[in-house]
Amino acid sequence: MFHSEILKGKVAIVTGGTAGIGRAIAERLALAGANVVIFGRNPERGHEIVAKLTGQGQLTSFIGVDVASTTAVEEAIKQVLESHGKVDILVNNAGITKDGLLMRLPEEDWDEVMAVNLKSAYNTSRAVVRPMMKQRNGKIVNISSVVGLTGNAGQAHYAASKAGLIGFSKSLARELASRGICVNCVAPGFIETAMTDVLNDAQRAAILETVPLKRMGQPHEIADAVLFLCSESANYITGQVLTVDGGMVM
Ligand code: NAP
Repeated sequence: MFHSEILKGKVAIVTGGTAGIGRAIAERLALAGANVVIFGRNPERGHEIVAKLTGQGQLTSFIGVDVASTTAVEEAIKQVLESHGKVDILVNNAGITKDGLLMRLPEEDWDEVMAVNLKSAYNTSRAVVRPMMKQRNGKIVNISSVVGLTGNAGQAHYAASKAGLIGFSKSLARELASRGICVNCVAPGFIETAMTDVLNDAQRAAILETVPLKRMGQPHEIADAVLFLCSESANYITGQVLTVDGGMVM
């Protein structure tokens, strides 16, 4: 276990921090001492999390923003820089699924999944790299998925967006390494959140067959991996994909 204040003084943005894995990441980074700004679309859930964390003495705030919108993200990050003076950590976690076989996949579903899962990382990263380069350090962690590595029937657009995040992260890692900025991916496996709640018992059982550890992961198990990559313990790690999946992909 990490000592509790390893991110003290750091300013972190977590997209999609209003639910599931993103919420666990926001809570974990705040518990480690970071001042966490949550980006999401649901203000009710955002303010509820901020109230909870503030009540525990942690520093957090919420900005309502659709990460697929370049202008809205630019505005939100400008707001963070004005109020906090810097961004040390960016976690691109917001993501959606819209499953369907390719032959019946509507163009608007393809576009929406790409915009929320992949273009969002362009939007946020482009807005934070300049200040990170000036301070000559920073951590960017992108939440990909094991299906970005393996593919998955019914998820061509989702898997393409998650594989895209890996290529994006490796390219950015090469662009930014000389400025002390590390860019990595975490690729979760089968994690218990609203995203996987939609699966029926037969689908769950079939997936669990492929998981050597024979259980679903919990959001906090992804959050711990993200915390590690955001910490100084990971200063020599960049351009990597850390799978946290109970051994599904090895
Ligand atoms: P989730 O419970 O459905 O949460 C998704 C989060 O993304 C919510 O906080 C939602 O916030 C936010 N979001 C969605 N669209 C957004 C938008 N346009 N702008 C801003 N925020 C947006 O999903 P999850 O399971 O925690 O997934 C989190 C990430 O992990 C995703 O990128 C997902 O692809 C990835 N992942 C999940 C699993 C899994 O098994 N659960 C496996 C591999 C990878 P609002 O509702 O407030 O907008």
